[in-house]
Amino acid sequence: MKCRYCENEAVYPDGLCERCHRAEAEARGATVMSEEERDNFKGKTINEDGSTYNTNEREDETSRIHVYVSNGMPLRIKLAIGFIVFCLLAIVVSALGFLILALPYLVAAGVVYVAYSVIKAILKSRH
Ligand SMILES: [Zn+2]
Repeated sequence: MKCRYCENEAVYPDGLCERCHRAEAEARGATVMSEEERDNFKGKTINEDGSTYNTNEREDETSRIHVYVSNGMPLRIKLAIGFIVFCLLAIVVSALGFLILALPYLVAAGVVYVAYSVIKAILKSRH
């Protein structure tokens, strides 16, 4: 099939060759984007057929799949994961709590050791 405007082969469904199609799209005030450019472009773009293409819609679809996957998970696995997370949190919290509780004793032990060393040194120097 020949292009409506020139003698080139029409490659678009609107009956235009690539050159004329591009020229007409530019005349309409829209730049023709390649698939890759469109995918990299954030936000709304207008397709050649006039429909809007929104990258956010695709992201929504992906997140919907994620939601479906998490909802489709058996309750037992969810409970098991929850239990493991709870255990890990409990270990971390108790370890921190132990450190906080033990800190005064550790400091006291350190002070006593230093004081003992100092007294010993003083006693030794007297002899
Ligand atoms: Zn043409």
